[in-house]
Amino acid sequence: MDFELGPAADALRVHLRGLIARHLPPDFLGGFTDDPEDLETTRRFCKMLASQGLLTPTWPDEYGGRDASVWEQTVLREEMWAHHEPRGPQYMSLNWVGPAILRFGTEEQKRYHLPKMAGGEALWCQGFSEPDAGSDLASLQTTARPDGDGWVVSGQKIWTSYAQVADWCVLAARTGPPDSRHLGISLFLVPMDRPGIEVRPIRSMLGPHHLNELFLDQVEVRRDELLGQENGGWAVMRGVLAFERVGIARYARADRLLDAVRAAVGGLEAMPPGLRARFARAMVHTRVARLVAYEVIGAQADGHGDDGAAAAARIASVTGDQEVSEVLVEAIGGAVFDSAPAAETHLQAAVEDYWRYSRSATVSAGSVDIQRMIVARSVLNGAT
Ligand SMILES: Cc1cc2nc3c(=O)[nH]c(=O)nc-3n(C[C@H](O)[C@H](O)[C@H](O)COP(=O)(O)OP(=O)(O)OC[C@H]3O[C@@H](n4cnc5c(N)ncnc54)[C@H](O)[C@@H]3O)c2cc1C
Repeated sequence: MDFELGPAADALRVHLRGLIARHLPPDFLGGFTDDPEDLETTRRFCKMLASQGLLTPTWPDEYGGRDASVWEQTVLREEMWAHHEPRGPQYMSLNWVGPAILRFGTEEQKRYHLPKMAGGEALWCQGFSEPDAGSDLASLQTTARPDGDGWVVSGQKIWTSYAQVADWCVLAARTGPPDSRHLGISLFLVPMDRPGIEVRPIRSMLGPHHLNELFLDQVEVRRDELLGQENGGWAVMRGVLAFERVGIARYARADRLLDAVRAAVGGLEAMPPGLRARFARAMVHTRVARLVAYEVIGAQADGHGDDGAAAAARIASVTGDQEVSEVLVEAIGGAVFDSAPAAETHLQAAVEDYWRYSRSATVSAGSVDIQRMIVARSVLNGAT
C-alpha cells in the first residue's frame, strides 16, 4: 500500500492546524484534565468540529457523518493527538463507542445515540475493568440479574476514565452463570444519572483527576439498552477494542515533540553522541509505529481487521511513547519535573505531561504484556 496520504490529506492537516491555533489557548495540554475550563474548551472544540463535518466524518450520512474515507479520519486523529487531544473525553465515543453502536446497535440505538455524538453533545465512559478483572476481563463479576423485561445490575468497576463527567456508560455485566467467563457477558448503554450509580474519584500519579471507581447498586437496565446479543458482549468487546487500539495516534504527538525538542536544543548535532544515537533511534521507531498503524487501518478499512495486527500496532506506539519521553526529557533536562505542572515554557510542560502519561500508556486499554500474548497467538495460529 501507499503510505503517502496525498495532497487532500496535506490540505486537511493545514486546515486542522489553523482551527487548533484559532480555537485553543496556546498552553492547552489536553483532555486528561479536571479543570472545568479545559473541559469547556473541549466541548466547544467538538461542537466547532461538528459544525464543519469534522467530528465523525466517516460515519454514514444518516447518523451525522458524511461517509468520508478512513484516511481523512486518520489525519484527523493524528492532528488531534499531536495537539493534546482537544476533543477531550469525547475521543472515546468517536474512536470506539460510536463505531460499536454502528456495528452492533439496533436501528433505534443508532438513531438515538449517534447524532448526539456526531454533534459533540454526549460524553461516554467505559465500564469494563473491575478490581479483579482487568487483563482477565472474562472474569468480571458485576452481575445483571433478569428482572421483568430487563435486568438489575450490581457490582463495582474501576479505572473508569471520565465517569465523573460522562453522560453515558458502556457497561459490561455478567448475564450468564458466575463461571460462564466470556460466554456470559452482555453490554449495556446506560445513562450515568440512573439511580444506583455512584462515582468515586481515584487520585493517581497521573495528576489531574480523571480516573474513578464506579459502584452499581441495583441499577435498573432496560432491554432496549442491551448492545448486541444477550451473553454476546465478548464479541462486541473484541471487535471494538481492535478499533480502540489504533484509535489513538500516539506516534503523532511523539513525532511533533521530537521535532520541537530537536529544534529547541539546536538539532541532533548539538546533542552528546550517546543521546544523539538514542534520539535518532526514537525518531525511527516513531516512524515505524506510524507505518504499522497505517497497515492495520488499511486492513480494517478493507474489512480484514485482525486482533494480532492491532495489538502489534499498539505495542509499537505505547513502547515508543516511553522511549521517546525518556530522550525528550534527557535532551531538554530533568528540570521539567521541578517546575511541573506550571513549567516555565509550554514545551517543557508538554514534555512533562507526555512523560507522565507515557507511564500509563502500557497499561490502559489493555497491558502491553497481554498485547504481546495476542500477537504470539495470532502468529502461532497463522503458522499452523
Ligand atoms: C490511565 C488509565 C485509564 C483507564 N481507563 C479505563 C476505562 O475508562 N475503563 C475501563 O474499563 N478500564 C480502564 N483502565 C483499566 C485498564 O484497562 C486496566 O488497567 C488494564 O486492562 C490492566 O488491568 P489491571 O489494572 O487489572 O492489571 P492486571 O490485569 O492485574 O495486571 C497487572 C500486571 O500483570 C500483567 N499480567 C496480567 N495477566 C498476565 C498474563 N496472563 N501474562 C502476563 N502478564 C500478565 C499485566 O500485564 C500487568 O503488567 C484504565 C487504565 C489506565 C492506566
